[in-house]
Amino acid sequence: MRRALYIHIPFCLRRCTYCDFNTYVGLLPLRAAYVEALEREAVLWAERSPELQVATLYFGGGTPSLLSPDSVARLVNVARVRFALPADAEVTLEANPGTVAEQQLRALRQAGVNRLSLGVQSSHREELALLGRIHSWAEAVSAVAAARRAGFANLSLDLIFGLPGQSLSRWMETMERVLELEPEHLSLYALKLEPDTPLARRVAAGELPAPDPDLAADMYARAGELLQDAGFWQYEISNWARGRAPAPEIWAVPPAGQSEQISAWVAQHNLIYWRNTSWLGWGAGAYSWFQGRRWSNPAHPRAYIAAVKSGELQRVAEECIPSALEMGETLMMGLRLAEGVTTHRFRARFGLELSTQYGDALSHFVKLGLLSWDAERLRLTRAGRLLGNQVFAAFLP
Ligand code: SF4
Repeated sequence: MRRALYIHIPFCLRRCTYCDFNTYVGLLPLRAAYVEALEREAVLWAERSPELQVATLYFGGGTPSLLSPDSVARLVNVARVRFALPADAEVTLEANPGTVAEQQLRALRQAGVNRLSLGVQSSHREELALLGRIHSWAEAVSAVAAARRAGFANLSLDLIFGLPGQSLSRWMETMERVLELEPEHLSLYALKLEPDTPLARRVAAGELPAPDPDLAADMYARAGELLQDAGFWQYEISNWARGRAPAPEIWAVPPAGQSEQISAWVAQHNLIYWRNTSWLGWGAGAYSWFQGRRWSNPAHPRAYIAAVKSGELQRVAEECIPSALEMGETLMMGLRLAEGVTTHRFRARFGLELSTQYGDALSHFVKLGLLSWDAERLRLTRAGRLLGNQVFAAFLP
């Protein structure tokens, strides 16, 4: 089984105005103790499950680029030595422009990181200020150039659309500028106003216009067209990889024999999540999904460090995932992918037919034009992509 390993780095220099992630400002002095705790957590996992192997490694945050390359190298090494992470495995690190210099990027490359995910978000000064980002567009451009010089051949850039007051033309300007940077991968996220964030409070107070969902849908569609013309394959609702799709029409059933072909630039780590396989999460607040159970670590870095020091991997909100929920989540995650959910993979995993388990819901959404189903493969249609949450809900118990 291909398992993903996620390591959470919960430190940021400043909190962005839209962010509700498990991250903290002002805790950088904890970094050394935190990395030690991560190494200790690895040992605890290895003692409990000595045969465990992982296929990919992802440093997410927070701002993982605030770790020293030496710390990253130590953690990559632990994954290789104790969990048989292959030498050519995808190792991703999230970085924010403004926190990465070329020398550091070279050291990260040497530490074994081979994929960089840069949080660019926008090319416009006012939008970056609205979002509370610490960097400018110029810093994003120089981070990309520095990453290339440091030897990163696999760069992913994150962007946010649907901002309060953002026009379609401003968004498309950002898209055009970002394409000039020639990334291998792009993640486009619609802004979600999370409760109790400064941005949500400003919108609630009437200080900023509420994001317009119809306009956001137009932005998504236009960006998709632009990316398709630019040679990108939309392999997931929010993710595009450079290269041709395995089928001429990405949401149609691909020709026989090409169905499982995956472009080199698809995020292998995230693919494991979307296929709902299994993952380990190390670090503060990180979730694990392992042997039919799901849980998270203590959320605060101090609580996490203390728990690991005590020699116990304390599990927060642990739940057993019954088969019906696992099936529903497998559909919910798999339908995010262009490949959809295949009959053979579902049958191999659950010993059941998709049509037996979900026949009524399948017919309903096929009639509404939100799902395509040819008995081999279940997929969201183009219309279904915009209403994915309604479809997903029908499969959850
Ligand atoms: S850099 Fe990322 S994790 Fe940190 S505050 Fe901003 S959005 Fe949140």
